[in-house]
Amino acid sequence: MFDTIIVGAGIAGAVTARKLAEEGNRNVLVIERRNHIGGNCYDCPDEHGILIHAYGPHIFHTDNERVREYLSRFTEWYDFGHEVVAKVGEKLIPVPFNLNTLHMVYEEEKADRLGKKLIAEYGEGSRVPIMKLRENADPDVREIAEYVYQNVFLRYTMKQWGQKPEEISPEVTGRVPVVISYDNRYFKDKYQSVPADGFTPMFEKMLDHERIEVWTNTDCADVLAFAEGKIYFQGEEFTGDLVYTGAIDELFDCRFGRLPYRSLDFRFEHLDTDSYQGHSVVNYTVSEDFTRITEFKFLTGQKDADGTTIVREYPFAYTGAEGEIPYYAILEDANRELYRKYKALTEDYKGFYLLGRLAEYQYYNIDAMALKALELADRLMAAE
Ligand code: FAD
Ligand code: UDP
Repeated sequence: MFDTIIVGAGIAGAVTARKLAEEGNRNVLVIERRNHIGGNCYDCPDEHGILIHAYGPHIFHTDNERVREYLSRFTEWYDFGHEVVAKVGEKLIPVPFNLNTLHMVYEEEKADRLGKKLIAEYGEGSRVPIMKLRENADPDVREIAEYVYQNVFLRYTMKQWGQKPEEISPEVTGRVPVVISYDNRYFKDKYQSVPADGFTPMFEKMLDHERIEVWTNTDCADVLAFAEGKIYFQGEEFTGDLVYTGAIDELFDCRFGRLPYRSLDFRFEHLDTDSYQGHSVVNYTVSEDFTRITEFKFLTGQKDADGTTIVREYPFAYTGAEGEIPYYAILEDANRELYRKYKALTEDYKGFYLLGRLAEYQYYNIDAMALKALELADRLMAAE
């Protein structure tokens, strides 16, 4: 009945499903354990009519024309330049740290002098990871680096990862470099948007195809089994393609131990005020136990709504307990090694593909994930 089974209805699963159904004429079953589609991009109105992102703020940002074009088939966009500020003492300073920030934290003459130095050293418009900036031999540049390290990265990273910036993969802190320009935007991509009516309607349209069936509230463990190189679906051998976007250790009962992840506790609050912080995202980089507060009306274009809803994010180490969600792979050699051990187990199964942030134990943005899904679907169709 189904040629292809996809586990997970996040961006990875949804894009793969649509492409294979539409262009490959495959009958696709999407299995999703949550009671909704969209994975971590899922959004919905709260009881006050404010559109919230249930798993933290999601902004679709990309330079990739193919991805933008593909997703644009399923949504209009609300485009904006996403800006983030950090609360440092009484000040709200732009993050990534840039030349505007420099002028907010140093008096004018010094800021001018340091700004010129940064431009001479790295070139206007360049983006320098904090861990690189700290290596600069010039004491002036090191002073800036030290300010940024102490006031933007250290506490936030300790909260988010339970480790210092120098202890985690440079790839992670490198996502938010020091920017040698007056651009306050968080991302540099050409397109920075949220779907005009929300992410969930975009996913609904993507999955709305006569050859796609979606089973929510279904854990793949309840319908799929793996034994001696064979995959079974509801007790019968399944010989089609299986694309798995969940956590790989769970699939094999965590037999080598759990893959480590960081998780987040999202605490929402509705307030009867027009605005709580006047910004979509404020990072708490030197104080508090939470990392950031998102005020959704400034993210989704609902600026004129009555009242406001905010969410605070409290990071913690994922333990696998009921109800916890693994959000971030921890990019360390030992964890990658453990990941490879699990991945090796999948190699016995023909037509079995790992795709997604969890299944690949990687740190992907939405656009990268969508692109990988399009490419996997292309490969599967080419192999027919
Ligand atoms: P997911 O969205 O996690 O989807 C996987 C799905 O598989 C889930 O719905 C899960 O329930 C399901 N599943 C897992 N196991 C099973 C099982 N056994 N049976 C059935 N179903 C199962 N990216 C951006 O580009 N911009 C942002 O602003 C941004 N902000 C983020 C903020 C936070 C707090 C987080 C955590 C991530 C953010 N991301 C952002 C990253 C983005 O969420 C991911 O790139 C994207 O969701 C990955 O999609 P995915 O399909 O791989 O995984
Ligand atoms: N980071 C930080 N302070 C900030 C913003 C980011 O220390 O104000 C660090 C932190 O370690 C974080 C990483 O940079 O995990 C990447 O930030 P990004 O916003 O890309 O994280 P996301 O939540 O999107 O994964």
